[in-house]
Formats: sequence, C-alpha cells, structure tokens
Amino acid sequence: MSDAVKSAETPLYRVAVRALCDFTAREGDLDHRFTPSPSAREGMAGHVLVTGRRGDGYESEIALSGRYRGLAVSGRADGFDPALNRLEEIKTHRGDLSRMAANQRALHWAQARVYGALLCAERGLESLTLALVYLDIASERETLLTEEASAGELTAFFEAQCERFLGWAEQERAHRQARDAALAGLVFPHAEFRPGQRELAEGVYKAAATGRCLLAQAPTGIGKTVATLFPTLKAMPRQGIDRLAFLTMKTPGRRLALESLARLGAEGESRDQNPEESGGGRLPLRVLELVARNKACEHPDKACHGDACPLAAGFYDRLPAARQAAVTRGWLGREALREVALEYRVCPYYLGQELARWSDVCVGDVNHYFDASALLHGLAQANAWRLALLVDEAHNLVERARGMYSIELDQRAFSQLHRSAPAPLVKPLGRLVRQWQEMVREQGGADEGQAGRPTYRVLEGLPERLVGAMQRAAAAITDYLAEHPGDAEPALQERLFEVQAFIRLADSFGEHSLCDLTRHGRGHAILGLRNLIPADFLAPRFAQAHSSVLFSATLSPAHYHHDLLGLPGDSVWQSVASPFRADQLEVRIQGGISTRLRDREASLDPIVAELAGQYQRRPGLYLAFFSSFAYLQAVEARLARLHPELSRWSQTRGMSEAERDAFLARFQAGGQGIGFAVLGGAFGEGIDLPGERLVGAFIATLGLPPFDPFNETLKARLQARFGNGDAYAYRIPGLIKVIQAAGRVIRSPKDRGTLVLMDDRFQHRDVRRLLPEWWQVG
Ligand code: SF4
Repeated sequence: MSDAVKSAETPLYRVAVRALCDFTAREGDLDHRFTPSPSAREGMAGHVLVTGRRGDGYESEIALSGRYRGLAVSGRADGFDPALNRLEEIKTHRGDLSRMAANQRALHWAQARVYGALLCAERGLESLTLALVYLDIASERETLLTEEASAGELTAFFEAQCERFLGWAEQERAHRQARDAALAGLVFPHAEFRPGQRELAEGVYKAAATGRCLLAQAPTGIGKTVATLFPTLKAMPRQGIDRLAFLTMKTPGRRLALESLARLGAEGESRDQNPEESGGGRLPLRVLELVARNKACEHPDKACHGDACPLAAGFYDRLPAARQAAVTRGWLGREALREVALEYRVCPYYLGQELARWSDVCVGDVNHYFDASALLHGLAQANAWRLALLVDEAHNLVERARGMYSIELDQRAFSQLHRSAPAPLVKPLGRLVRQWQEMVREQGGADEGQAGRPTYRVLEGLPERLVGAMQRAAAAITDYLAEHPGDAEPALQERLFEVQAFIRLADSFGEHSLCDLTRHGRGHAILGLRNLIPADFLAPRFAQAHSSVLFSATLSPAHYHHDLLGLPGDSVWQSVASPFRADQLEVRIQGGISTRLRDREASLDPIVAELAGQYQRRPGLYLAFFSSFAYLQAVEARLARLHPELSRWSQTRGMSEAERDAFLARFQAGGQGIGFAVLGGAFGEGIDLPGERLVGAFIATLGLPPFDPFNETLKARLQARFGNGDAYAYRIPGLIKVIQAAGRVIRSPKDRGTLVLMDDRFQHRDVRRLLPEWWQVG
C-alpha cells in the first residue's frame, strides 16, 4: 500500500480516472473508421446485465479516489467480486472482438490498473485479479480477459500515470493563475467607448457576474464584438469562469471575434495587426478557432484512420508534443493550428478537437454548443466547466436551431440501397421500402405529385410502422457492418446514419416538431421530421451555461426569442439606443403598392417607377430586395424595358463565393446602379457598405414566409403554445429580415440614405410597431 495513493495533502489538480488514462495511456493511430458500437443506452443496459449475473456480495459502481503529489484522482470502478478478489472493468461491443484496435484495448487495461491501485490502497489488499469483461450486445456473451497484479505493481503503474500527467497539471494551474491575473487587469483596447458601447459592456458584465442570460439588442456600428468579449473576459477571474465560447452563425463573424481578441491582447501598434501574424498579442490567453472538418481536413480524399491518412497514423504518439506546442503558442486561429498540426504531422481537425479541452476561449459556429452532440456542450458537462456563452447575430438562432433538430429522408435513396443490398439486408430493407410505399398510399394515392409539382402533406403523427421498420433495418445494418467491416459501403453507412438520426429525433417527437411528406412523383417522396419550437431542445443548454449573452441588431421583440429559444425565466433584456439620428435615414412607405402574390403583376410598374424616380433624385448605389427570384426577375425585366439606361445587376440562385464578391464589388464609392437581391439571402445581412458605397435600399416585401401548409401548421402550434401564432410564424421573422436588410444603409454616424418600404401592409399598426424606434417614417 502506497502512502502516495493515500496522501492527504491539498490537491493541486483534480482529474477523473478516465481523463487521466485518456491523457497518458493513449497511443498509436487515430481511428475514426466506422465501427458499429453500442449506443449509450445499450452500454448502460449491458452494465446492468453483467452485474446482475454476478453472485451475492458483488459490489458495483465503487467510488474510488487517491492522491499522488498533489494530484487528486477519482472515479467509479464497474465492479468488484470480494469472493474472487476480482476487479472488473465492463465494456460493451458489437461484432468480432479480435478486431478491436490494440490501442483501445491498452486504454481499457490502463483504466483497470488505475482502479486496481486505488482499490488496493483503500482496502489494504496485497494483490488483485483484474478483469476486462467484454459483453457482446447482440449475443449477450461475455469474454473475460484477466491478469494478476500485486499492489506494488499497480501502485507503480498508477504513479507512473500521475507522473506523466503532473507536469501538465502544474502547467495548467500556472496558466490559469497567469490568465486570471492578466484578465483582472485587462484594459479596453480603444481610447474611448463608442456611443452605446459602454452601456452594452456593462450589461454583459452584469450577466457574467450574476450568471444570467442577457438578450441584448444593439445597433450596427457600436462595436458589439469587443463590447461583449471585453467584459466577459474581465469577469472570468472574479466569477471563476473556466471557459468562454464565442459562437457565430457564419465565418465572417468568427474573423471579427478573432480580430477583437487579438486587439484585446495586444498593445500599441500591434493592435492593428492580423491576429494570425501578431499571435494574439501578449495576453496569456489560449484562443482556439473551431473549424468544420471539411474545412480543416488536409486529405479530403482519405478516410480518418491510420491505414489511409498519414496524419491519423501515429496520431496519439505525436499528440503530446503537438498539444504542448499548441498551448505554448496560445493563439490558435485556423492557420496557426494548421501550422502546429503539420509540424507534428497530426490531423489539424482532431488536434483542434483535443485543444478545445485546454483553451480558454473557443470561437466557433453555434452548432458547437447547441447541436444534439455538440463538442463544447459535451466537454462543459463532462468537466463541470463554468462556461460563458456569447452568441453573435442571435436573431438567426431560432432558424439555425430548428435545422439542428430536423432531418429529411429520401425514399429513392433507400430504394436504391435495397436494390444493391447484400443478401442479409435484403429482407429488412425490403420491409422498410414496403412500409414507405404503404405510408405514401395511405396519404392519398401513389400518383399524387406526378403533375410536375410536388405535393406536400403534414402527417398527423409519426408513421409508426415505418419507424419500426427503420429500427429493424438500422439494427440489421449495424450487425452486418459489425460482421463485415470491409463492406462498409459509403451509401450503406450514410443511410444508416440518416436512419439513426431520424430514430433519435422520433424518440423525442412531440408538439415541438412535425412530420411531413413531400411527393415529387411515383417512388420519390421525402419524409421530413422538422423542429418548430427549438426551445424544448435549447432550454437545458442555456440552463447549463454559467451565463449567456445573445446579441444582434434585431432582437425585438424579446418575448419572441425568449419563447422560441427557451431562455431562462430570469433572463434580462437590454436595448441599446441607436447612435444614428432620424435625419440620417429618410424612410418612406409606398402604401399604394401591394406585393401579395395575387397583385404581383400589377405591382411591377409602380415599383419600377419608384426605383427610377428615387434614382433620378439621387443617383448612386442602391440595393433592391424582393421576396423571391421570380419576383426579382420580373421587376428587373420591367426596369430594363422601361429604363434601359439604368445600370443594374442581380443576385442569382446558388451564387459561388466569387460571384458574390463580384456582386458586392460593384458597390464602390462613385459608382451608380441598383443591385437586385432576395430578402433573407446572402446580401440581406452581414455586409458592410459604408458611405457612398450604398445610399439607399428598396424593400418590396414584408419578408413573410409563404402561407403554405407547413407555415400554417407552425402558426397553429405557436398559437397553441404561446398564443401568438400569426406574429411568431409570419410577422416577426419577416420583419427581422426587413430590418436587417434596411440596416445595410446607415453604417456610421456620417452616413445618409433613403429607405423605401413598398407594400401597404407597412402602414399597419402591428407592423409599424416592429420597426426600429429611431426611424422616422415619412
Ligand atoms: S486529415 Fe482529413 S482524412 Fe486525415 S484524419 Fe484529418 S480529417 Fe481525417
């Protein structure tokens, strides 16, 4: 029995057995090859099955802890049989056990040995039998691997692991102290606050200090990014905040956050440098940019395992050095992370995933926290982090979150898979295909949708028989892939992932979602499971964060976001007054025009007259927004016919990045013409055209989603839940788009411009009161 294991000193650092072994005992290749593994639920059931088979006196879930030189290690061993003096580590698996990678097995042994050392120390045992119990989920058969070990051997192993971790633990503690000291003394990076900026920063600080959620509406141009980052960083030491996540909707938002962080960390002239070059300045703050796998991958043609990709081969052997180099560097924007990864020949994407554990600030997409299997949420839960969230452009979160909890399945893809399926899968896939056909028939005849136009129907509930067939097909494919790992055809895996995702969402199906069927013709139907009220999925996420700040220029009315996102009851609303004066923006409503579908043809001439008239009064650069490409093209064609001299250019469907840049490149000071765009598209928000680069905007739509069966169901659900169906389904999301698009015109206190709102409904009281207070509508 070792004194070290029993030591009672105050711990320097606490670590769980699993995390300790993950850090010290992983070696060899990274392997993300698809291996069907039991689900978390199956894993838990497997543990219960094994421990239930053991005799009287068997102990399960034994809490164990020990210390070594200031390191406190704790965890729960799966089981101990005192009669056999056997400690068991239980693992569930599918398929042939001999295919389990050696490094995976080594990790399991490391965990068993550490638990063994802790148990020997706690109970004064001289020796122990260690057992890895592998339970095959399909056959419920156990495979037992055992080894005998003396207490001395186990203690030596435990101490060796702790020794390997201690250096890191000491470094982490020193970093945290240095970080917190630096953040406590952090100064605002500009000589003075812009109007409204201090007010916002104070609100954000209070949210972090009181552990609340803040919904902050603040106008463009006041510097929201730095006004949210600075006070949150400042609050971190005092509030014991472990990590900060800055979450964005699009890549440009990430760049802005990184630039602000670089400026906060830098001094003097280096504040203006590119963050990748300045390395984030001198602040001892680890900043990580989280990048999607397809953007970070160096070998997109390869698979993520050591036999295929050189950056996966030996990944864990080189990870310690890469990790050390990365944290020493501190600033890990996309390029810096890539440099470190390539220097140590490891995959940049998976290195980034590892570093998310050790970074103070993660800058990434909202899905890294809100998605069903989000990395940052998982880490925060596993490590009990106090996490502060900052969500930029938060007016988009309702739609983004709906997408995270929705899925579509294409009937054709499953029929194709059935036709080419290996023999053992023909039957379960055949059943799935038949159930699909039957459901289509039940929904009103197989011929619907053949007249060239898809037909759409909201189902009354889940198609239970089809979901049952999916469950059986998923189980059969999983078993097949476990037995035939070489046959893991991409299509088979893809369909399996889709079906599994559908089943997961079906498990939690409720009034927050709907199931629908779109038929494009015989044998071609799309089954959708769509989320309508993301609050039910997001509320626990907000509750688990220490604090959250959702900010944007368009968050009114607060109750809409509060209800649909599931924000905590004590959330705070803040609206920062606009620094712009009413006389900077001439707002005109053209109430004689109706842009309703039935009035479109009649609206073309008045819209063109408005465009040409305004252009004549003040030549310059304008944006004109429409509800659809068809409407846009109709107006453009009429303008071309009646005013061919007027320069114009248009957004088109699915524009590439280069095409979008070319569209925007026409907006140069001194230029003239009208850019035609679709409201809610690429040019309706997130673009900055100050001064003469944009002198006005025309908006010929209320931005209302189409009145179709989907939106009518959405409206009914929102009415039933919140008593606000029409506003929540149509008016508010539409007006948010309108105000976002209008926000392109005035970008600074020096700008002057014109906004023309074209539709009689802009005059309605319910619509008028959703417009920004500082607008003076003429
Ligand atoms: S470089 Fe690409 S293929 Fe290789 S491990 Fe990384 S993500 Fe996978």
